[in-house]
Amino acid sequence: MDYNKKKTIKDLDVANKKVLVRVDFNVPLDKQGNITDDNRITAALPTIKYLVENQAKVILFSHLSRIKSEADKQTKTLKPIAKRLEELMKQKVVFVPVTEGEELETAVNKLNSGEILLVENTRFEDVVNGEVVKRESKNDSSLGKYWAGLGDLFINDAFGTAHRAHASNVGIAANIAQSGIGFLVEAELANLSKGIDNPATPFVAILGGAKVSDKIGVIDNLLNKVDKILIGGGMAYTFFAAQGHKVGKSLLEEDKIEDAKHYLEIGKGKIILPIDSANAPSFEDVVPTFSDTSNDMPTDVMGLDIGPKTIELFKKELTGAKTVVWNGPMGVTEFKNFEKGTLEVGQTIANLDGAFTLIGGGDSAAAAKKLGLADKFSWISTGGGASLEYMEGKALPGIEAIQDK
Ligand code: ADP
Ligand code: MG
Repeated sequence: MDYNKKKTIKDLDVANKKVLVRVDFNVPLDKQGNITDDNRITAALPTIKYLVENQAKVILFSHLSRIKSEADKQTKTLKPIAKRLEELMKQKVVFVPVTEGEELETAVNKLNSGEILLVENTRFEDVVNGEVVKRESKNDSSLGKYWAGLGDLFINDAFGTAHRAHASNVGIAANIAQSGIGFLVEAELANLSKGIDNPATPFVAILGGAKVSDKIGVIDNLLNKVDKILIGGGMAYTFFAAQGHKVGKSLLEEDKIEDAKHYLEIGKGKIILPIDSANAPSFEDVVPTFSDTSNDMPTDVMGLDIGPKTIELFKKELTGAKTVVWNGPMGVTEFKNFEKGTLEVGQTIANLDGAFTLIGGGDSAAAAKKLGLADKFSWISTGGGASLEYMEGKALPGIEAIQDK
């Protein structure tokens, strides 16, 4: 994808302007409403700080989770996020508890240069008077227009929603005089482009996770770019089935066997499958048994991770790689007994010399963090779905909507 021509925050004169900024503050909260990981807030700070330093009036928009009922609005308010942002910025953040109307308009107009305002959860617009109307999520044109009317310029720094056309990204961009991308989106695009579009070779992709159906687009797009694709995780078992093997009780997508056959055929020599599997009697965290996957698997087991021989094979395949793109864990990392494949493969990638290493995909990024590998990668995308769609070669509407230089 060539997004080099998109205007960035630095191409816009922001001083004394009302700058609308779409950020991704969709952070995880515990039952008490405490933020459990503020990574997404800190990732947006460079853009917010730049705007403050350059005397913009900063008006922030974000969604938080999904809103399906009026009751959801009680627990999914951005109020605690405004407080956290205040602490991180060491400056007051005006929180406006509504998404439209006089209270919002007055607060925006009272804002001075260098001050920050956060609008309530944009997805509150998905439910109006108890009715599910999806004004935000279906990009209701009057809503994008209304929000755009509050400001002079628009910056999109929410990579996590870049693959969606919502009112708060595409809708605002379509209705405002000038727009650009923020520093986080700029970095995401630069790193994804480096990994996917202009990879140094040898280029090895590692795909895993639950389902073939989730990753077909990625396989399809990467197959003609990579030197090797290593396949692990639940999706591997559908590939074994495509080779004519029985896979016991393992995850199997019958309706994807033909697709798997097709990719094995056109990807001959490039697609590397596991040679053994770590198994349990059912979906449970118990000490594994192992089986080879060049034959039928035992009928009474479920494959939950790659086995030790595969770990060695994948380590060998990764040796000397100059670009590694990783999407999807090698096994069920939620289980202690089945995190080994992901951990070992992750460590191998992290220790590669002089390689550009990229993680896309929400669960892979979470697994890398949980296993303590996070800072050893060149880039871990903050947008699971958006990075996945980029890897599929799909256009990102949230970026497309931004003006060219
Ligand atoms: P990502 O979000 O990184 O794209 P996915 O959502 O595709 O990754 O996959 C993550 C999920 O895949 C995890 O919940 C993990 O438990 C599951 N998974 C991995 N290996 C297996 C397996 N062998 N059987 C069942 N589920 C698996
Ligand atoms: Mg996932």
